[in-house]
Amino acid sequence: MRAWWVGRPGAISTRPLEMGERGNPKPKANELLIDVSVCGICRTDLHLAEGDLPPRHQHVVPGHEAVGVVLETGSDSSSFQPGDRVGVAWLGGACGTCPYCRRGDENLCLAPVFTGWDRDGGYAEQMTVSQDFAYRIPDVFADEKAAPLLCSGIIGYRALKRADLRPGGRLGIYGFGSSAHLTAQMAIHLGASVFVMTRSEEARSLARGLGAEFVGGPYDVPPVLLDAAILFAPVGDLVPVALRALDRGGTLAVAGIHLSDIPSLNYTTDLFYERQLRSVTANTRADGHEFLALAAEIPLAPTTTTYPFEEADRALDDLAADRITGSAVLRVRPATARNKAGPFTSGSGAA
Ligand SMILES: [Zn+2]
Ligand SMILES: [Zn+2]
Repeated sequence: MRAWWVGRPGAISTRPLEMGERGNPKPKANELLIDVSVCGICRTDLHLAEGDLPPRHQHVVPGHEAVGVVLETGSDSSSFQPGDRVGVAWLGGACGTCPYCRRGDENLCLAPVFTGWDRDGGYAEQMTVSQDFAYRIPDVFADEKAAPLLCSGIIGYRALKRADLRPGGRLGIYGFGSSAHLTAQMAIHLGASVFVMTRSEEARSLARGLGAEFVGGPYDVPPVLLDAAILFAPVGDLVPVALRALDRGGTLAVAGIHLSDIPSLNYTTDLFYERQLRSVTANTRADGHEFLALAAEIPLAPTTTTYPFEEADRALDDLAADRITGSAVLRVRPATARNKAGPFTSGSGAA
């Protein structure tokens, strides 16, 4: 099969990803073998390729927003049948026995397995996944619209929960990429007013189109104090900026897996009056299932740009340079009649 893997991690301009042929994976007893149709491109893939996240094994295949069809089930797998459409997300395994797993916080597992980091991901024609960590994809989403939901969407949903946004609250969003544009749609659906601070003009116009109340530059001060804020940009300098924009008792959630250093904070101006700063670490499967149900109910309309399989490194280069508005998706298999169907496939705009 054809696959992309991380060669020597380094700046994306040094072409750290390599494409070639490798043997098809075989499903273990509790696994599914998947024929990958598309795979979303996440900033975490860029961190992996560039070495901010050191690869956990040599020549790992990136990609943790894969959508495809079950080709084969392992001898102990009965939850899915060949032909079922499934999604594979970042959390690919958890131990089930550590104190965090036992109390329901499997996102904090001491021995987690991450797709496209610990095990091979979806930048390949085939992959395997534990049946317990595969998701059914709601029918309303075509493959390329479903892919960004699997990390960008789920993490945005978890970040929204971590930010403690109350119904009708005022939410600040710093950075407006793949996850943020889905989170804004969820927040607006839930009755919040949304204030977006971001540098790219295309992202600002997408935010306006989705119904943001205010759109400004990354360091601009929103016109009202915020009840909650989410920092999507991997920029630690924005932490004090966002904290100062919070109302008393407000919460800032940092959504990314990687953040540049946070400058020193001043207790009085940045934290007092019970403002809170929180991180967001992966997600539980419960988050994923809750989110996919909500996404179908809204229904979320990801703005996507699709790249042919051969151009994964160009897609990451575009992501690094802020040239992608919304979500980037790698098309692994040519579109078939099935995944062309549905109302959400035309063009790259919010359908
Ligand atoms: Zn665990
Ligand atoms: Zn991701």
